[in-house]
Amino acid sequence: MKRKAINFERLSDLLYMKNVSLNINYQEFDNEQELAEEDRILLSMARAAAGNAYAPYSRFWVGAAVRLANEVVVTGNNQENAAYPSGMCAERVALYAASARYPGIPVLTIAITAKSASFKVDYPIPPCGACRQVMAEYETSGPGSTRVILSGEKGKVLIFNEISSLLPFMFSKKEMNH
Ligand SMILES: [Zn+2]
Repeated sequence: MKRKAINFERLSDLLYMKNVSLNINYQEFDNEQELAEEDRILLSMARAAAGNAYAPYSRFWVGAAVRLANEVVVTGNNQENAAYPSGMCAERVALYAASARYPGIPVLTIAITAKSASFKVDYPIPPCGACRQVMAEYETSGPGSTRVILSGEKGKVLIFNEISSLLPFMFSKKEMNH
């Protein structure tokens, strides 16, 4: 019979580690008609912006509309480029334009939607990781949280009440101020 050696290092890991789970809350609506009027209007502005996107390569037009605390809405859309990395997502076009024109004004809500030349986008479009990080930057600069409305051309709409729901364990200025 062989005896197995006990690995004490591993054993102590097991004794001291904790399994932790994360709970993410968001609201789901069957369609945009169920949204509050203010959110429905913001989404319609994002849709209009998507129509003006410069997306000759992907032919996937994304629109974003940002509602600021001064009640101004700034829109953006994806801007592509033959040199691919030079392009920019709709969300960041809108957020950077908002910050450039209205510096320091908190972002209350951002609505995001998309349409495609080749299929019907019937599911909520999530923002890419880089855009989530940029949303986190402006949210943590302000006094409150930023809501995010995600939608396709039709179908379900999701609402997140804060950026940490989309970007848990986010890196922010707080991490640099210890
Ligand atoms: Zn993005």
